[in-house]
Amino acid sequence: MRRRVKGVTEVKPDFDLLIIGAGPAGLFAAIQCHVPGRRIAILEKNRKAGRKLLVSGSGQCNITHAGPVSEFLDHYGNNGEFLKPALRNFNNEDLIAFFRERNIELEEREDGKIFPKNRRAADILQVLLDECRRNKVSIFFNSGAEKIEYKDNLFLIKGKGGTFTSKLCLLATGGKSYPATGSTGDGYAFARQLGHSVVDPRPALVQITADPYPFNAIAGVALPDCAVSLWRNGRKFSERRGEVLFTHSGLSGPAALNLSRYIMKRDCLKLCFLPRFERKQFETDLLDSIRNRGRSLLKNLLGEFGLPKSLAEHLLFLLRIDLKTTANSLSKESRNKIVNALFEFEMPVKPSGDFNAAMATAGGIALSEIDKNKMESRIVPGLYFAGEVMDIDGDTGGYNLQAAFSTAALTASAIKRQWGKCSQEDNATAEPADER
Ligand SMILES: Cc1cc2nc3c(=O)[nH]c(=O)nc-3n(C[C@H](O)[C@H](O)[C@H](O)COP(=O)(O)OP(=O)(O)OC[C@H]3O[C@@H](n4cnc5c(N)ncnc54)[C@H](O)[C@@H]3O)c2cc1C
Repeated sequence: MRRRVKGVTEVKPDFDLLIIGAGPAGLFAAIQCHVPGRRIAILEKNRKAGRKLLVSGSGQCNITHAGPVSEFLDHYGNNGEFLKPALRNFNNEDLIAFFRERNIELEEREDGKIFPKNRRAADILQVLLDECRRNKVSIFFNSGAEKIEYKDNLFLIKGKGGTFTSKLCLLATGGKSYPATGSTGDGYAFARQLGHSVVDPRPALVQITADPYPFNAIAGVALPDCAVSLWRNGRKFSERRGEVLFTHSGLSGPAALNLSRYIMKRDCLKLCFLPRFERKQFETDLLDSIRNRGRSLLKNLLGEFGLPKSLAEHLLFLLRIDLKTTANSLSKESRNKIVNALFEFEMPVKPSGDFNAAMATAGGIALSEIDKNKMESRIVPGLYFAGEVMDIDGDTGGYNLQAAFSTAALTASAIKRQWGKCSQEDNATAEPADER
């Protein structure tokens, strides 16, 4: 299509905005960008949209978290600050309102996680698809983008679905985790082609593995309150408190998953199994119990402090203390060993290389090259980003989906502002219709 502007003939691009990726970030950006007359399309490599959204929260979709935005920022590792404008522009309450207005009932669990009341991720996806349809967003399925070029103020996107041109391009291709859902890290290659740097992607929200791993014998046991700290070169690097689940091959549960993004070679974890006790106070209480209940089995006594029986038994086994030991036959040395194990169980850990098991990707397109107030590239004008393709990853609890929706909403605000400006300029410069 061609039109004349100030006597120049220019090629009219196929679209005003082409979005790569029909995950929550891409779909929501398309919806929020809606302006009558603007042509918006999404290229999706899969046969269907939102495959990762469908498996989120084990298919129940923990869509966001309760609490003020100021508390959200702490849940994105070192990069929370980047998200401030996006979360201020569109926060958890805005997200809840968006879905409630579209007849999705949401409810908050005791731990602050917010889910659709019927626990169906598919319903969340359906709302996004219905809105896209209503806004006449074209979604091209089986149309994976393979190459993006930027030339003469236009994006040329080549791939399985053919070649498309667009004035603006939004990368919403997600990270690298769960590649079977379509998120295979393609966005990193596109960003590099366009001059961006990429922080090395690493699996995040993934179980922590250790070699040797001492807890396989109690796989399936969960400890609701455990303090997990990560140590590097003899110094505490980070700490999380919450549920830990012992699996057959590593530590899972929120406290462990949320630390996984930081783990590097030669790091070490320390587990405190009874964080609600001060160590000194516990030692005194344990001595009192031993004095008062000397004939009780030690493992039962430990259970009374809130330690699951199987974990108490397993710790005694690891410490080579006979399970039949009674409290009054415990030596001082063994008592010290037990207290040490309960408060500072040390375990060398290793970074997980398994993107197939990770729920998120740490690393991604470098944030220093993105304007956090617009989600626009500082290198290529008209190139925008939304969602996990950027170097952002959140804790488990709804923080990743909120980031995808919030960055998409901020991108959309910036794009609409740009279109507003273009329309004014077009009106000011285009020749009157009757003179064409
Ligand atoms: C098992 C699991 C459970 C999770 N549970 C939760 C949860 O309960 N709460 C939460 O907040 N977060 C959860 N997450 C994380 C959350 O799902 C992601 O952070 C979120 O989906 C990211 O959205 P996105 O749109 O940025 O990327 P994605 O959802 O990854 O979507 C990217 C899309 O881009 C497409 N694409 C990729 N490359 C191309 C290409 N070259 N051309 C065209 N299309 C392309 C992909 O096919 C995909 O459809 C979970 C993740 C997993 C794996």
